[in-house]
Amino acid sequence: MHIRQLFQPGRPLFSIELFPPKTPKGVENLKNRLLQIRDFSPEYVSVTYGAAGGTRHNTLEVCSTIKKLGMVAMAHLTCVAHSRGEIDSLLSELKAAGIENIMALRGDPPSGESAFQPPPDGFRYAVELIRAIGKSDSFGIGAAGYPEGHVEAPSYQVNLGHQIEKVRAGAELLVSQFFLENSHFLRWRDDLRAAGVTVPIEAGILPALSAQQITQFCTMCGVAIPPILLADLEKCGEDKEAAAACGLEFALRQIEDLLREGVDGIHLYALNRLEPIAAVAPLVRA
Ligand code: FAD
Repeated sequence: MHIRQLFQPGRPLFSIELFPPKTPKGVENLKNRLLQIRDFSPEYVSVTYGAAGGTRHNTLEVCSTIKKLGMVAMAHLTCVAHSRGEIDSLLSELKAAGIENIMALRGDPPSGESAFQPPPDGFRYAVELIRAIGKSDSFGIGAAGYPEGHVEAPSYQVNLGHQIEKVRAGAELLVSQFFLENSHFLRWRDDLRAAGVTVPIEAGILPALSAQQITQFCTMCGVAIPPILLADLEKCGEDKEAAAACGLEFALRQIEDLLREGVDGIHLYALNRLEPIAAVAPLVRA
């Protein structure tokens, strides 16, 4: 099913993002966990695409399992290290596997490289990938959005323009970068709507696992951390379970507030963990 068929006005979507494990054993474990994830009836499950090498083929394998289990799969695809010809081959592979939705991204530079380098005969921006996917007329297309702007963009407004461009090019869904202050998401959603964007806009939620982890993610992605969250996480010290519970509690409060604001959907960055999925699903479905 294409993502455009999943949205029903007044019923927020619940979607889950997973990453492909590196090892065959990890992939098998995740496949087994998908059976449990199915019980929470997400509208779709998306699987990220590695910066280069390693896990890339596992994205397709995990997506195929999601589909076999009767759920809607969305495969992420990036411009990193792919020529246009390779992108065409990958699209054919995804189509042959029955994958109907693609999250089209530029991608982050592979580890060790500080800046994104467009590959020879490849794409520089996600918008170009979106146009290429659109030509095949076979996939529902999602794109990434940034409530606090993108780390490389000269300003929030410039980046907003680039997100609008992705929708005009054919993206049928925007999924936000994670954020920890709902006011950023709500302002961004309002700005997109004011600019005439009508596609669904999902709120990306990442439950923090520890003070160190969330600080690292926020620095990397240019996301502000509320001091109260950081202080609560720091109080947990080395107690990993307490910190994860604290991060999840904060995320649940964010979601309750977002649902009251009538968001189109909650996209959970689950980091392959079942616990946040089990906690968030009933909240979105209530
Ligand atoms: P773009 O939309 O191309 O934007 C990249 C930068 O270029 C921005 O600063 C933008 O303002 C600028 N820009 C865009 N268009 C133009 C233009 N026409 N002219 C000039 N400047 C322009 N990364 C992965 O490697 N794998 C994943 O699976 C993955 N999944 C993600 C899922 C979501 C929901 C999100 C929010 C991010 C994900 N990322 C993933 C991270 C993403 O690849 C990075 O944030 C990356 O730096 C930007 O990707 P993009 O698709 O937003 O790029």
